Amino acid sequence: MIITMKPSCNETDIESILTFLDDCGLKGHPLRGVEGTVISVLQAAGFADACKSANGTISEALGGFASIARAESASVPYQLASRELHPENTVIEVPVVCVAEGRVHIGGKDIVLMAGPCTVESEKQLMQTAEAVRKAGAVILRGGAFKPSTSPYGFRGMGEAGLKLLAKARAEFGMAVITEVMTPNDVPLVAEYADILQIGTRNMQNYMLLDEVGRTEKPVVLKRGMSATIEEWLLAAEYILLQGNPNVMLCERGVRTFEKMTRNTMDISAVPLLKQLSHLPVISDPSQGTGRRDLVMPMSLASVVAGTDGLLIEVHPNPEEALKDGPQSLQCEQFQSLMPRIELAALIVGRTVAMSETA
Ligand code: PEP
Ligand code: MN
Repeated sequence: MIITMKPSCNETDIESILTFLDDCGLKGHPLRGVEGTVISVLQAAGFADACKSANGTISEALGGFASIARAESASVPYQLASRELHPENTVIEVPVVCVAEGRVHIGGKDIVLMAGPCTVESEKQLMQTAEAVRKAGAVILRGGAFKPSTSPYGFRGMGEAGLKLLAKARAEFGMAVITEVMTPNDVPLVAEYADILQIGTRNMQNYMLLDEVGRTEKPVVLKRGMSATIEEWLLAAEYILLQGNPNVMLCERGVRTFEKMTRNTMDISAVPLLKQLSHLPVISDPSQGTGRRDLVMPMSLASVVAGTDGLLIEVHPNPEEALKDGPQSLQCEQFQSLMPRIELAALIVGRTVAMSETA
């Protein structure tokens, strides 16, 4: 339910509505905008009206508050992620030493490049990749330390030793770091090292994990579940937002279809659709999205033109020897030649690309 307050209402009026909702077992989430205040009543669809207050239904009881202009059902179930109550873009600030300003903004005019190996394999591999992607202009270094693996015999990452290497690369190259967190228990440890927490496709609906990252203030990249609808994905984001963390980005990384020539089917239409439906930044991962190095460049450019706010790209100094995702990893030189093309594609949609200082 969405309660629109009258322009003349004051803080005491808002507080009394919040207290009333609280007494009915509902959570009111006030949003104070330039045009006035709306209160989003956060509960399962239909719950508010089914729930009785002392004066009849909640809707009837709300009719008794003179400060309310109107109360109506929300049109979508993901109220916090929706543009309905939050028309302006969410812009997420990430401190980054290697840009002149000392920070980048994701969801603003700049498109932000996050690049690096799928998985941290060794100090040499990580440092070589970090140096190359930073030289090409990337500002955020990616690299998995805790890795999901379809097979229990596959490489599952270096764990904390991998996080330490990421921290070392961050210190040396001045980039911010994004890395995956897989369990609620690991959140404090990973948050100690990472600037951005990544929730992988397999965990998009791990609600305990979503709750836990929602209790931090760290920016979160929420990857699309490999069989998730857009609505399920936005509801997963809602879990994080509901816990109080507003810094959520949605990452399109392809979905599973009947097609076997690509690892996943990258849903480029999800990018502009999400930008319509939600105020959250949207980023694209053409590496997992296609599984093919030769398709990473065209799908990166397509994502930019479709309105993506950032790209997550796998790069490896020697993809043939990569322990994970070699076939979809760009060689360092390929990533370097991608950057100027991304800048050109950005021009088409009136955007710029955040660039590291040496680039
Ligand atoms: C990855 O980024 O390396 C990864 C495992 O991503 P996803 O969860 O999208 O498969
Ligand atoms: Mn990968």
